[in-house]
Order: sequence, then structure tokens, then C-alpha cells
Amino acid sequence: MEAHPQQPKTTAPRDRIEVDIVCVGAGVACLSAVLRLLDRVKTEPARKPPTVLIFEKGREVGAHVLSGAVLDEGPFRELLGPDRLASLPRESRVVREKFCYLTPRRAFALPLTPPPMKARGCPLVSLTKVTRWLGQLCEEAGAEIYTEQAAAELLEDQTGRIIGVRMGDKGIGRNGSPKPNFEPGADVHARVVVLGEGASGVLTEHLIQKKKLGDGPHEQTYAVGIKELVRGPPRPERKGHIFHTFGYPLDRHTYGGGFVYAMNDTDVAVGLVVALDYRDPALNPHELFCAFKAHPLVREYLRGGQVVGYGAKVIPEGGWFAIPRLAANGVLLVGDGAGLLDTVRLKGADIAVESGLAAGDTLFECWKNDDWSELRLQEYPERFKASRGWRRLHRYRNVRACFQRGRLPGIAATAAGYLTGGLLPSGHVHMKPDAAMMEPRGRRRAPCAAAPAEGLEKELQLDILSDLYHSGTAHEEDQPCHLVIKDRAVCARECLPKYDAPCTRFCPAQVYELNEQQDGIRVNPANCLHCGTCEIKDPLRNIEWKLPEGGGGPGYKEM
Ligand code: SF4
Repeated sequence: MEAHPQQPKTTAPRDRIEVDIVCVGAGVACLSAVLRLLDRVKTEPARKPPTVLIFEKGREVGAHVLSGAVLDEGPFRELLGPDRLASLPRESRVVREKFCYLTPRRAFALPLTPPPMKARGCPLVSLTKVTRWLGQLCEEAGAEIYTEQAAAELLEDQTGRIIGVRMGDKGIGRNGSPKPNFEPGADVHARVVVLGEGASGVLTEHLIQKKKLGDGPHEQTYAVGIKELVRGPPRPERKGHIFHTFGYPLDRHTYGGGFVYAMNDTDVAVGLVVALDYRDPALNPHELFCAFKAHPLVREYLRGGQVVGYGAKVIPEGGWFAIPRLAANGVLLVGDGAGLLDTVRLKGADIAVESGLAAGDTLFECWKNDDWSELRLQEYPERFKASRGWRRLHRYRNVRACFQRGRLPGIAATAAGYLTGGLLPSGHVHMKPDAAMMEPRGRRRAPCAAAPAEGLEKELQLDILSDLYHSGTAHEEDQPCHLVIKDRAVCARECLPKYDAPCTRFCPAQVYELNEQQDGIRVNPANCLHCGTCEIKDPLRNIEWKLPEGGGGPGYKEM
């Protein structure tokens, strides 16, 4: 199955590797599946353990992982048991929480935190660190992890069963020709492929389309989350304080909100999530993020600090109705890549672990019974449907679609879902895809086009390129551009006059710039954070994100 024809057709022989299980993406979901499987395998010492390979396109495990993150420990407890859970890398625990409505100058704390958002006592973590640590546990349990390795295609046999992955070639020049260091990617044959690429993963999306796994009533929708880690003078009295916000700087038609977490004595995580079904082509998520940082409530927490980390990623928000079938012949989909994220709490790590537990148990049964059939793999979605995460996804299944109609319908739907245990809103509330929501320019004013940054210390007023420096982003320069504008004539003929090139604003890494002389868009692929926004939000669907060579992208350390 040719997933992304980035690779040149080559006759060079490819290595062939045979394993039992191959995982694409060393994120929380895949690592949880592997750890669960290998923990259970230990209960059968007489049998030869399965061979498990995990491929990660980042430079190290966790390098592409970014989140808030306030952790819901329940599923981690089930995965790790009490002893290992005690060593999970935590920064602190939530001791005080607020949920605030923001206007440009003021903050109004709700008297009570909405029950789904309550987090008191939960650990504050860097998901990058947690993922790295889970990777070490997997290796100790017997899995092999290979970083800087991008899986480029799914291999399929004549019956349509997925039988492995073809790894990306290395050493292809900018013009598409092999360089002297050219290395063809190996073909890795496996009994099962576990896809845990994260939101909007290349192989996952291709598989969903080709095998028609996305048979839900609406397409997946997304938000982009932008985050900075700010390090300042020690303020132990703030440790464990968190607040979530709604309102400013987003207008009432734009779903999303902000967060500020005092992670430990010195570090504050600050972020803004902007749903990609926004309508205004002038909206600029990074500009809104700067406005959020400058709000009096937020800047007070950041006072005296310096940015030490920056990143962005998309978050699947379509909810229950957008979840594809989670298993097909030879393949399982886990975590964010399958849209398994609680849209009300904007939390995915706990559900990723729950999907990993269900996938790991299924793989264990496959191995124990030496039965890797599609029928056996279908036990995975059945197991996952018994989880708390699945029930929560069902309970709030229409909430996100109601927010597409405005803030008040969304809040009413959240309350109804909570109070009725998910009976209301009943039926299916339709949702339009993100790209289709953008309106032509001039129809509405930008929600925060001239964001007031005054009051924010100069050290914290970073433009995108200064922020990007703190993401650790790097790519091999001499390789084909992984961001392809499919038809450049469409940019000049339709996009510029109608939408004024929104890619120059929605990208949180300034990859796209207007090139006035040539009447077109200049692309700087080396800046790319692999967040996925451009392919999703381009109103004319004229951008294609292809897999770059393994090892490229952000290098998150503590996000
Ligand atoms: Fe994200 Fe696309 Fe910009 Fe890369 S080019 S950072 S994927 S919006």
C-alpha cells in the first residue's frame, strides 16, 4: 500500500526483517500496548516471547510528544502497578485549580470548577519525559526501539491484509535523486502492525481512507495547541497551581481555551488551544497565544521568566462520532491517531493508555493462541469499549459539534451531557470539517488581530522564529520538500484573493511566507514542527504533508 510516494522508485535491494509485532510511533499509546503485552508475556515463561519493534521518527523517544499535562493517573496505575507508578516522572501535584472566563483585561473565576475539569491531586507532568520513561520500561521488558526511523508505507498482501511496513529511504537529495549515502528503507514484515503515530498520522490517515475505516457520521476535526515552557525565579508558593480559561482572546465562535500550570518551583507551562473549525481567515493562533500570555492573569504567573521550550501540535476533537474502526486485517489503531481524546477535558494521555491496555491484552491473546486473525484482532475494540475513556467519549459525543454553533450551545450541551449521563443531547449533531468552515476574508473582523502585548515583559514577547528556536527543530536540509503545494496556480487564482493566504498565519512555525515578487508562497520546510495544521486547515486542501526523512522535526525535551 503506497502511503506517501515521497520515496523514489528504486531497484536497490531492501533488507527484509521478520518480527511478530511492529509499532509505528513511540508515543504513550504504542508504548502502553507493548508494556502491557510484555508484562503479560512474563506470566508464560515457558514460551518464546514475541519479537516487538517500535519505530519512532523523532530523534529520541518523546521528541515529538507535547502536552499540558495534568495526568489522570487511573489507567497508568493499571498499566504500571504501584511500584513502577511511584517512579513515574512527576513535577508536582495540583493543589489549587481555577476555571476562569477572561475578558481583555479581567478574569472571572467560576465559583466551582466544572466537574469534568476537576484535577485537584492529579500529577503535573512533562509528557515528553513520561514518554521517554515509558520507552525505557519497554526496552527493559524486551522491546527494541529504533529512533530517527520513519515508516513510509504499509505493506499489504494480495488478500488485503496488512503484513508490515516499509521504512523510509535515507539519503535522497532535494531534487529527488539518491545521494552517495543513499540507504533504501527495510521491509519489516510482522504479524500485526500497531499504528500509534499521533493525531493526523500519515499511514493512519491513508489506511482509514483506503480501507474505509472512517465510517462514522462526521470527519475528524482538530484543534491546534501552542505551548511554551517558561522558567523563572523560584516561587514555591505557586507550585501546583493551575488554571484553565475560556473567552479572551478567542471570539465566541471559536472553540478553545488557555491553560497555565505552575509545574514546579520554577517552571510554568502556558498554552492556548484553538479549534481549527474557526471561520476567520485572518486568525493567527500564535498571535492569539501572545495575547493570552499578555493577559494580566497570565503574565503575573510568567513574571521574571524566560522561555525554555516551545511547541505545537494538533489535537483530535471530533469525538465519538469521528472515531474510525480501530482494528482491520493485520492492524490496530491506538491513541490520538485514532481520535481517542476527551474533547471536553482536552485530555488524551489517559485514553491513550486505556487503548494501549486493550491493544496489549489483545496482542497477548493472539500470541498465546498463535492466532493473529482479523477476528482475534477485533477483540481490541470490544475491550476498549469497556473502558472509562470510551464511556466518557460517548457521554460527551455531541458536545464538540454544539460548540461549532457557538459558545452557549456548547456549554449547554456539556452541562446536559454531564447531568443526564450522556442521554442528552441525543441523536447525532452534525459537524462540518475544519477546512470547510473558513469564510472569505472581510466577512468578519479578526478576533484579536491587534493583540495588546503591552504589560508583558520583553523577554516573553517572542515572535514565531524566536519561539521556534526553543523547539529544537531541525531537518536534513538536502532532501525533497515535505510540504507540497499541489497546484500553485490555485494560490494566486483562488486562495490569495479569497482568503489572503491563511497558511502564512495558521502555521505556528512560519513555514509559509508570501513571496510578493513571484506572486506565490515560499515554503521553509526546515522550520516545520510536524504539527499537522496546514493539511487540515487549508480551505482549498491544496497542501500535502509528506513524511520527511527520519530524525527531522522538533526535539522536545520537557514539553
Ligand atoms: Fe505545522 Fe504545517 Fe506549519 Fe509544519 S508546515 S509546522 S505541519 S502548519
